[in-house]
Order: sequence, then structure tokens, then C-alpha cells
Amino acid sequence: MSVYLDWAATAIPYKEAIEEQTRVCSDFFGNPSSLHEPGRAARRLLDSCRSDIASMLSVRPEQLVFCSGATEANNIALLSVLTRRKRGHVIVSAIEHSSGYEPALLLSSMGYDVDFIRPDASGIISPVDIANRVREDTVLVSVMLVNNETGAIQPVREIVQAVRTVQRRNIHVHCDVVQASGKIAFNLTELGVDSASISAHKFGGVRGAGIMFAARQWDVLIRGGGQEQAMRPGTENVAAVAAMRRALEISEKEREKNSEHAIRLKKELIDGISNIKGAEFLPVEVTKKEKQYIPHILSVSFPPVPGEVLQRVLSDAGFYVSTGSACSSRARRNSRVMDAMGISDRISFSAIRISTGYLTTEADITEFLRFIKREIPLLMKIAR
Ligand code: PMP
Repeated sequence: MSVYLDWAATAIPYKEAIEEQTRVCSDFFGNPSSLHEPGRAARRLLDSCRSDIASMLSVRPEQLVFCSGATEANNIALLSVLTRRKRGHVIVSAIEHSSGYEPALLLSSMGYDVDFIRPDASGIISPVDIANRVREDTVLVSVMLVNNETGAIQPVREIVQAVRTVQRRNIHVHCDVVQASGKIAFNLTELGVDSASISAHKFGGVRGAGIMFAARQWDVLIRGGGQEQAMRPGTENVAAVAAMRRALEISEKEREKNSEHAIRLKKELIDGISNIKGAEFLPVEVTKKEKQYIPHILSVSFPPVPGEVLQRVLSDAGFYVSTGSACSSRARRNSRVMDAMGISDRISFSAIRISTGYLTTEADITEFLRFIKREIPLLMKIAR
């Protein structure tokens, strides 16, 4: 038996997406920049993917820059301020994924003044806190739409409005929408952001494709052959982009059904885990304020059982969860996100993240709950 509960790290790709990737790899092998027929065929396919994806996202085709994934998109967006001659001020939320946080640290080491804004205890960033930090020389603000550890939905639209009210001048607002894509309804144009990052493998596409939404063109740090309006030069991964289109079509079509399913699963998880003495939800609000958190992600802690130990025990039994975010889990430190929320080391040290997806069944959750209800009290005794 195996129960995959780490969908926020990566989703199991749709069969249709894998088939599309294979088909396009062999049938459309040409380089889309080549002028001969195989090249033109690949270009036509890429263009059709661009217009289909643009219409699904309610944006214009020329606003989509295909790239390798969200790490690249976040880096392109944030580091492009380095093309400016004068250094300035940058505001970034303290709960960004490392692919949005580390570039901000780089900016800081390269002469930018960077303010990291902490969320409240429920994991939400306040638009007022952001607006209060805006300065005359602020050039960039970056806040994600859904946090990958807590599932907290950030008030991005209000943040953009607050920033624009304080300072109408050109402040670039970037938003990592990775954990929202294909899961909740949102509209990039309505959010009002200048750029956004999307990753195909989080909603059932194959790895190696992503999107940087660019409301308008600007100068970036990367140089090359000029592809993707020179904002992401390099030969386009046509097959992975085609697979991403397929995955987005399916996940958008099934979004409401999948979301209702995820809500049911989360309710079951919360009910079951609440019965385990000593369990702590991260944050506690996740059990009460349903609309502020996506239903697919649930972080929970069973102190003093180390999250890493619990994850290993679960893995040995065929249940796959993660400790914090998968990308930082090798670093073996407490979660920066939990830290920023003011959660104690004792609790965050024991955190695991449970995330569900379109293939997760109620039986999976029942089995998982049965296992942890039996094992957690024993592990707590040993750990004490
Ligand atoms: N942002 C968020 C919120 C994520 O969860 C992830 C994936 N862990 C990324 C960015 C990075 O995406 P990718 O794997 O496509 O580089």
C-alpha cells in the first residue's frame, strides 16, 4: 500500500500530460526558432499553447513567458532590478518560498535595502504592513498568493492596491502563484500584479516547464538568443509546454470538483487529528477560517516527535508526507515560515505537511488517520 500525501511538493502528472509530452517530443522535434518546416511546426504548436494557456489564465498571449519552472521565473522577476544603475529598496514577504526569498537575500548582498515583512500568527501578510514600508526609492514588492507550508491565501489584490495608493510610481509587484494554480480561482489581471510565477509540475504537468506572467516587457538579467521576448532566452521546451497546457486544461475543468473533494478530505484530517492528544495545527486558524487557506495543504505538529522522525516512520509504512517544504527539508533547520509566524521551535521542529491531490481518496485518509492514531502516542512517549 502506498498513500501519496505530498502533492504540494509535486503532483502526480496526469497520464494525458505525459502522453502529450511524448507525442510532441517525437512529432514536433524542430527548434521553434528554425525557419524550415519542422521548426515552423514546433513554432505553431508553441503559439497555440500560448494562446490557449493565455485564455485559460485570462491574460494576453504576449504576456506569457515560458520557462523551466517557478524557481527560474521568481529569479528572473526579482533579479531583474539588478539591471538598474541605481540601487533602491525592496519589500519581500518573510514567508516566500526559497526561490523567492534567496534572490531577495542576493539583492540585499548586492546593495539593495531589503525589508522582509512577517505575517501575523495566522500566516497572513497585512497590506497595511506592506504599505507602511513603501518608500520613495522602493522598486519591487514580492508577496506570494498561497503559502506552500500553511496553505494561507494572501490578500495580494489588497496589497497591490495599498502599494499603488501610497506610491503610484513604478513599483514592480511580483507574485508567486505556484500553489494557487489549478487549485483556486484567481485572475492575474484583477490581482494587478506586474509579474507572476507558475510551475507545471504542481498541477499535473511534467517537470521542466513553467510560466513567468509579465504584464509588460522589461529588461531582465539573463541574455541569449532573444526567445520569449528576450525575457527568457533559450530554446523553448515545446513538449513540456504542451504537457502543461493539457494539465492546465484538465485541472481547470475539474477544479471545482477537486476543490470540494479536497475540502472533504481536509475536514476528515482535521477531525481525526483533533482527537490525537497533543496535536497542534499550524496555524490553529487553519481549522476554523476555511476560506483563508486552500484545502489541499495542512501542516500539523505532534511535539515532541521530530517531524523528520515521523516522516520516516510514515514513509516506512507507505505514507508519504513532507517536513515543511520539500525544497528546504534537506537543510535540517526549523521552518523559516513557521519562525516568521512566531511558532515556537518546539512546535515547528515537529511539523509535517500533509497535502492532497486529485488522486487522493477518502480511504487513503482513513488509513493514514488509523496509522497515526496508533503510532503517534507511542512516538510521543519515546520522544519525551
Ligand atoms: N514557489 C512555491 C510556492 C513552491 O511551492 C515551489 C515548489 N516547491 C516553487 C516556487 C518552485 O517551483 P519549481 O519547482 O517549479 O522551481
